[in-house]
Amino acid sequence: MERIYFGAFSSRWATRCRLSELFTHLYVLIPVLDNEKHYWAGEDKVEKLLKHGGDWLSSHPENDLIVNRYLRHRRNLMSQAMAQLMEEDTPDPDEVQEAAAQEEWVIEERISLNEQRMGAVVAALRSAGAKRVLDLGCGEGKLIGSLLKDKEFVEIVVVDVSYRTLEKAQDRLRLYQMAPMQRERVKLLHGSLIYRDKRLEGYDAAVVIEVIEHMDLARLAAFERVLFEFAKPGTVVLTTPNVEYNMKWESLPAGKMRHRDHRFEWTREEFKSWANSIGERFGYSVRFLPVGPEDADVGSPTQMAVFENNGNDLVIR
Ligand code: SAH
Repeated sequence: MERIYFGAFSSRWATRCRLSELFTHLYVLIPVLDNEKHYWAGEDKVEKLLKHGGDWLSSHPENDLIVNRYLRHRRNLMSQAMAQLMEEDTPDPDEVQEAAAQEEWVIEERISLNEQRMGAVVAALRSAGAKRVLDLGCGEGKLIGSLLKDKEFVEIVVVDVSYRTLEKAQDRLRLYQMAPMQRERVKLLHGSLIYRDKRLEGYDAAVVIEVIEHMDLARLAAFERVLFEFAKPGTVVLTTPNVEYNMKWESLPAGKMRHRDHRFEWTREEFKSWANSIGERFGYSVRFLPVGPEDADVGSPTQMAVFENNGNDLVIR
């Protein structure tokens, strides 16, 4: 059965669905269509909206408008309902990471691509002269170890949306057994990169290694502002897979992405155009570096962009 999308301004239906499902849409959409109707929306309305719309509203293209009208434009109720809808729609980050880690394609390991990536990132940070560094979406902390070995990096703040992953990083690095001087250089923060976070402001550099492809494309715009407009580090070193290279891995079936949790993988052109548009909008110059063995036709397995803040203000379009 297909889900019906019922535009707020159109009542043309062309789908087959269960009658009970259709009623849940009608229950919510009839008062929405009749924007003139006046009734008082209280907390019980949020409950009713979630009861009838919980299964389909989070992925409805007009969900903002529907929630807005159903709750008679009451801001606090709207944000309460949207938060609960999105929560229902967003898988538990701890579970996603654990399941994906088990299934992760081991192909990358064969050429120790990970080590090459970490090496390239540390080199970019050193050449930028960064001392206070953010590792955003740090995972189990593969980069932290390399940064700790280098006295140049005096403060290393790592962030991840998965609490369990942070605990693993802490255990793996034996942070609590380190000498206090060493331990004090690292700070672990639990947080999501799609929400503005004052704790991330004022750093020399931020590293975002193999993270953006784990975000829904719809949420990437929020991440761009959080990092480049609000946190605004001097340098950003960001890596992501180059999808063109996937055909070089025989163990990776054609058309498959490298990791179960990847929402997208970009060609070099796609990555360049995304990174350049960020540079223009937020005042960063951008250079691109290949990481891993480079093939004449399809490039290297990892693509890296180094953004340097050029002091130009945000361009509002
Ligand atoms: N940078 C690490 C881990 C990459 S895996 C490395 O290279 O080894 C991607 C990581 O990004 C995961 O740990 C995941 O929990 C985290 N992540 C995904 N979405 C995030 C978000 N919105 N905010 C913060 N971390 C996120």
